[in-house]
Amino acid sequence: TRMMSADLHIEDTDIENNIRPLTLDEYIGQSTIKENLKIFIEAAKGRGEALDHVLLYGPPGLGKTTLAGVIANEMGVKLKVTAGPAIEKPGDIAAILNGLQPGDLLFIDEIHRMPRQVEEVLYSAMEDYHIDIVVGKGPTAKSIRLSLPPFTLVGATTRAGMLSSPLRDRFGIVQRLEYYSLEELMQIVERTARILGVGITTEGAREIGKCSRGTPRLANRLLKRVRDIVSIKYDSMITEETALASLKLLNIDTQGLDEIDRRILNTIWNQFKGGPVGLETLAATIGEERETLEDVYEPYLMQQGLLQRTPRGRMLTESAKNFLQIPEELR
Ligand code: ATP
Repeated sequence: TRMMSADLHIEDTDIENNIRPLTLDEYIGQSTIKENLKIFIEAAKGRGEALDHVLLYGPPGLGKTTLAGVIANEMGVKLKVTAGPAIEKPGDIAAILNGLQPGDLLFIDEIHRMPRQVEEVLYSAMEDYHIDIVVGKGPTAKSIRLSLPPFTLVGATTRAGMLSSPLRDRFGIVQRLEYYSLEELMQIVERTARILGVGITTEGAREIGKCSRGTPRLANRLLKRVRDIVSIKYDSMITEETALASLKLLNIDTQGLDEIDRRILNTIWNQFKGGPVGLETLAATIGEERETLEDVYEPYLMQQGLLQRTPRGRMLTESAKNFLQIPEELR
């Protein structure tokens, strides 16, 4: 079993690597970001310089990691990946930076979660490619300047506002990722299905796209689960009918709302008469962290026109009340 699971793991990573787009043209959606990046990448390559530092922000699963890989590939440089919480001490970031080759792209996910002292090392590294390391302690302590090769930092965060301004200001390129439209999600599903060798109709892709919460990660995950059900239970390709039946079996809401989205709407109605309710109170009632509500759930609910942010708190919209099937006389 051990070997089996190891093999499965390798296979899974292979699939994951295969379905990741490698070029800007293969990367679906986010057209403004792609247009901007194309220009910046071409200009940097023309000058033979490293690309300016890039900050990508937006809800999870929208393809920030994928985009960092695309940028590295388009620049023809190596990608190194790490995450804010993994870098604990200034020495950690110094070692990472010191290991970079000229032009390399360093991707730091959840960059808002780095300790302040680590962040401070990045300032000079980003600005003019050097770091100052303090060696020794007390009166004999010395500061040594280490120069670094030119490199590109790509930082990802769910919200740009969570970054300290000295860090944010050092990114030359700041781009916000948007939720994907249904058409874009369908393209992603069809592309992934092609790579996986799964038969799917446009209508089948549409049903999966509709349930994907504007998020490619979810679209690909749903596709894989639907594929399993369809191949075993229906022995056919993914069509509108088999997709719908599978999604029903998986207990997936057709508006793409997940359990927590629904809990948020229900709570605002049942416990706060539709709002307004403060974010803090709402988070405590639902048992989620305030940040998670604000960065992961609210943006989608607002984009769907189900939730409204007002100065006095969060409120359900009329569409949300329709969605919850609340009788007119109770509204
Ligand atoms: P984030 O970093 O924003 O939380 P992520 O970058 O980790 O999200 P990924 O894991 O990169 O999300 O993407 C999830 C899946 O969706 C990947 O398998 C990737 O192939 C696919 N994907 C993401 N964005 C796109 C896109 N724009 N076009 C095609 N496929 C995409």
